[in-house]
Amino acid sequence: MPTAPPPTAHRLLDQCIDQLATARNHPWQPVPDAVQAAYTLTGTGSGESALATRIARDILPYGTGNTHPGFFGWVHGTGLASGILSEMAAATINANTGGRDHGAIYLERAVIDWAKGVFDFPPAASGLLVTGTSQATIIALAAARVRVFGPKVRAQGNGGVHLTAYAGAGVHNAARKALELLGLGSDNLRLIPDAAHGIDLSLLTHAIAADRAAGATPFAIIGTAGSVDLGRFDDLGALADLAAAQSLWLHVDGAFGAWTRLADAPWRALTDGIGRADSLACDFHKWMYVPYDCGMVLIRDQAEHRAAFASRPAYLAAQTAGLGGGEPWFCDYGTDLSRGNRALKVWSAIETYGTARLGAAISDNCRMAALMGDLAGQAPMRLMAPVVSNLCVFTANAGLSPQAQSDLNTRIAQTLQLQGVAVFSTTNINGITCLRAAITNHRTRAHDVTAAMAAVRALAL
Ligand SMILES: *Cc1c(COP(=O)(O)O)cnc(C)c1O
Repeated sequence: MPTAPPPTAHRLLDQCIDQLATARNHPWQPVPDAVQAAYTLTGTGSGESALATRIARDILPYGTGNTHPGFFGWVHGTGLASGILSEMAAATINANTGGRDHGAIYLERAVIDWAKGVFDFPPAASGLLVTGTSQATIIALAAARVRVFGPKVRAQGNGGVHLTAYAGAGVHNAARKALELLGLGSDNLRLIPDAAHGIDLSLLTHAIAADRAAGATPFAIIGTAGSVDLGRFDDLGALADLAAAQSLWLHVDGAFGAWTRLADAPWRALTDGIGRADSLACDFHKWMYVPYDCGMVLIRDQAEHRAAFASRPAYLAAQTAGLGGGEPWFCDYGTDLSRGNRALKVWSAIETYGTARLGAAISDNCRMAALMGDLAGQAPMRLMAPVVSNLCVFTANAGLSPQAQSDLNTRIAQTLQLQGVAVFSTTNINGITCLRAAITNHRTRAHDVTAAMAAVRALAL
């Protein structure tokens, strides 16, 4: 294997930079059969030069299209140019951030310290960069369970104690999965209907009392800062009051919405009180636009966090100096021992663009969603839920029967995706499959929104 990269590697770097610089010309497209066939491994080892050629020809053109300014589907982050540099450097260093004493460890600590400041968590809080909010939720709820039982729960299990948790009806599926993986059972996640501003607090209080009366042990409330379907926010300050009064752990799922902390008024106020949570899960790869994958968990009480995960077999015993030093080690704060260098791409994004510019992009995304909401309010379209932040859900022709609307909206989503015009996803509101835009896209401009909505309208008539 040659140690110096062949010149084709430099060409590939140029191609990557060019593609991102012209993201507007690169919407999603289906992967042709011949290209899919070319993915079959030959196993023959054809060298770096051939690799660069194959990546440029067969891989680069067939992404998710989420770098395109007309991409509004699901809640996908859109990537940053800083990521090309940081991923290149990360691959060069190939750091393992499970622990020890090296640069990436200090970088991750710096990122977590910065995040504690953004979210008003105390300096003594702990944090970990993870794959995403799904993993962050598991880690947070594992720490919440340790608060109930102490660390012995790790060896002995729950001993038949029936734990229950509470969330608004729009809570993300990640919470359910976390309870399943912790062996608590997703049936024990009580879904509380929403009132005007998020989860109904009086119904929540009643549900907790009813579970206690029935012999269960309520242990956690999961607040949502930005529901995935409609972009709704629970009143986090009120949930913090209730959790304190009831001695329950407050976890906040802020996968994307937590970052409204960096936005202007009125959006910033959506996350007032977030710093009072016991734990927070959020993603850098959604509304901070950082390349996949990177989420984060913050936990207020570092001792509870460590008590849920710290464990060091003899071969990992830390030294007091040298590479084997560097305590505390990140492997003691989560499930992964070997970990990549996620901090570099986050650090690079923040240092390249600055928090003010990232916050301005988030505010602008909310403005774009509001613009889309205005356009969706014009007949025959109809807005199906108020635009609170960056989510806009609407139907293309409210004059049709529910079934016909569902068919039409589904067809429009597919057609616009295949045409490379815009990517909407769909969701179900009151039995109608609606078009859904989640704008976490710093490349989207007002003309992208108006063009996409004109395309919807043309297909709706
Ligand atoms: C995306 C999302 C999740 C899951 O996060 P991943 O990073 O995809 O694991 C959880 N909650 C909400 C509100 C989300 O939008």
